[in-house]
Amino acid sequence: MGDRAGAGRDWEARRWYSKLAQVPGDPLAGLGRADDRWRRWCQGPRSVPEVVRDRPEPLGAVDWDVVICGGTLGIFVGVALARAGWRVAIVERGALRGREQEWNIARAELRSLLDLNLLEAADLEAAIAREFNPVRVQFSGFEPVWVKNILNLGVSPAKLIASLRQQFLRHGGQLFEQTAVTAVTVHPDGIAIATQPSTGPAIAQGQGATGAYGNEHSQGNGAIANPNPSQVLTSRLAIDAMGHFSPIAQQGRQGRAPDGVCLVVGTCASGFVVNDTADLMVSTTGIADGRQAFWEAFPAGDRDRTTYRFAYCRPTPDAFTLHDLFEDYFQNLSTYQGLEDLDNLIYKRALFGFFPSYRDSPLQPFCDRLLAIGDSSGLQSPLSFGGFGALLRHLPRLVAGLQDALTADCLDRADLAHLLPYQPNLAVTWLFQQAMVVDPSPRDRNGNPDRINQLLGTVFAEMATGGDRVLRPFLQDAVQFGALTETLARITVAHPILTATLLPQLGPIALARWLPHYGALATYSAIAHLTPALRAIAAPLPLSPTQHYHLKQQLANWRYGAGHE
Ligand SMILES: Cc1cc2nc3c(=O)[nH]c(=O)nc-3n(C[C@H](O)[C@H](O)[C@H](O)COP(=O)(O)OP(=O)(O)OC[C@H]3O[C@@H](n4cnc5c(N)ncnc54)[C@H](O)[C@@H]3O)c2cc1C
Repeated sequence: MGDRAGAGRDWEARRWYSKLAQVPGDPLAGLGRADDRWRRWCQGPRSVPEVVRDRPEPLGAVDWDVVICGGTLGIFVGVALARAGWRVAIVERGALRGREQEWNIARAELRSLLDLNLLEAADLEAAIAREFNPVRVQFSGFEPVWVKNILNLGVSPAKLIASLRQQFLRHGGQLFEQTAVTAVTVHPDGIAIATQPSTGPAIAQGQGATGAYGNEHSQGNGAIANPNPSQVLTSRLAIDAMGHFSPIAQQGRQGRAPDGVCLVVGTCASGFVVNDTADLMVSTTGIADGRQAFWEAFPAGDRDRTTYRFAYCRPTPDAFTLHDLFEDYFQNLSTYQGLEDLDNLIYKRALFGFFPSYRDSPLQPFCDRLLAIGDSSGLQSPLSFGGFGALLRHLPRLVAGLQDALTADCLDRADLAHLLPYQPNLAVTWLFQQAMVVDPSPRDRNGNPDRINQLLGTVFAEMATGGDRVLRPFLQDAVQFGALTETLARITVAHPILTATLLPQLGPIALARWLPHYGALATYSAIAHLTPALRAIAAPLPLSPTQHYHLKQQLANWRYGAGHE
């Protein structure tokens, strides 16, 4: 696979690929590291070090209620809990500082930050770098579908996290920066988190899957650096917010390779014709080189544009690499953006990452007193690489649940599993990811190159007929039973031949795996409608704090699992 990355690149691609080398921060080195890591994942299961251990002896008095390992998304939960009076510490390997590259999200999804009083409205507004509309979904050979107010804000993680950091410190939280979590010991009455001064990245960038976002480099603000050498923090609960490659999550997954992966590359550049629209998912080509690639594009900063090329695959030894995808990106970018050539673009950042997803998600707690949030938890759709958006969607439920769990001392493994529940609305989307993966078999690789475009173009055209009510839940990673069933029915009736060819392509195993999730989605949807009544029935019951916690979580989980919030 590594040789393939170097071979067969045409002159034009190489020329523009070499332009990447001029982006500050040496993105090519980061890209090389990311691809090395990706190749290792493609080799199958790996042995992983044991960082979490159980000890039978009691720990005694602890210093913290919650220690959060990893600060990028961890700070969101950290502020909420510190505000509520819990003793919270965050341990961050770098400096707690968000990346420059914007996160895209919808305004409505930011609402939870204000509802939970994590930020002042003015601070949130100040973090919104760009707002734009409409947003396009289009597949080669099909008409565009335009939507509004989906992923149509660019939010500056640097500003957002700077404001959250202030709030966290103001509410008594303690930040250990440049401090890496090295081991976790679970005792019957507490959890001990061993740390040591970090030689890791100097900034915490929200790097997602790779730890590399091109030109972001150390700005060493030196605030609240941890002056202590190695130390052990003791707590009632530890939260793993160390991202997809968290050593704790790796142990929880026992080194298993992911079931599906989304590879993403792109740049943020100036020099495009000013364009205030965005692309959520656009294809300009069919299946080529064993993949179906898509585009995503967002206005960024004042006049810049972020463009991504992404494709889904399985981690197999012959899977394509980030290098392959970057080559494809530069070869097709000018056609996609309607540019004569790429000479006028000034690249500010190179962006790349790979996003593993596992069928058995979210990752269930595998010991007491330890809970995952953010990318390490796998509580997001296998279709999207919007981990920030996924956390915000669940934040009200998570924060309320964590507080109830701490109050009722419901911190064992089974209790914490309520906070990472099975979500049928995410599980059903596995089939959609599979439908966009090109199988390595010659039949699939050399078959109709437009089959994925035809499928997606048809599905989205039918969804558009159903209007926002049908389209929106799909695009916002909150699939709902009614909208899904309506879409499936429309497609089966209007496009029987497409349906008949799709079923054998997906195969009986994938379908057999999918049907129980679809059934669960129906059940969750039915129960979700009853939750107000169930809540009213339960209100007068003399429940213990533990029973109250369990019931409240179960009611919330039915609603979220049905795609409601
Ligand atoms: C190219 C790209 C574009 C993206 N665009 C969007 C978008 O538009 N919208 C969106 O919602 N999401 C987007 N994402 C996803 C988003 O960036 C991630 O979901 C989010 O950063 C996940 O945060 P996290 O805190 O869970 O993990 P990470 O971002 O990986 O952060 C983990 C943190 O843990 C720290 N850490 C790691 N190991 C240790 C250790 N041993 N000890 C202490 N600390 C440790 C790291 O320094 C880091 O701060 C994008 C990602 C990429 C790669």
